[in-house]
Amino acid sequence: MIWEFKCPVCKEWKEIDWDRKDIKHTCHKMRESYYPPNPAKQHDAYLDTHNWTIEMEEIVVKLRGECCVVPGCIKRYQTLDHRIPYSEGGRTSVENFFPMCYEHNDAKGDMDYDDWLAEYYRKIN
Ligand SMILES: [Zn+2]
Ligand SMILES: [Zn+2]
Repeated sequence: MIWEFKCPVCKEWKEIDWDRKDIKHTCHKMRESYYPPNPAKQHDAYLDTHNWTIEMEEIVVKLRGECCVVPGCIKRYQTLDHRIPYSEGGRTSVENFFPMCYEHNDAKGDMDYDDWLAEYYRKIN
């Protein structure tokens, strides 16, 4: 899978194989070496797949907590939800993930989180 990130030297978007992100690369524009940012460092860097890595999951949980993000839900998260659905162009990035329980993740399906939440509240109230 491919890791898409901003080169820390020239700030242009670059892509590398995820497995090669922890080794030194050279910015060909500025002729300077750098280490690609990991998901903790660049929250909008993303993978080209629907699935995420353990490393990304740990950072999302550290940032947003271990509880399902849906207001009023007290369950521990069981999966990560693409806030903007992958099918709608939402990215597999730390920025686009919310921790969620399976029940709410299933209920949300392929909707945008904000749209779904508005509809969900209309239904329960
Ligand atoms: Zn560069
Ligand atoms: Zn929940």
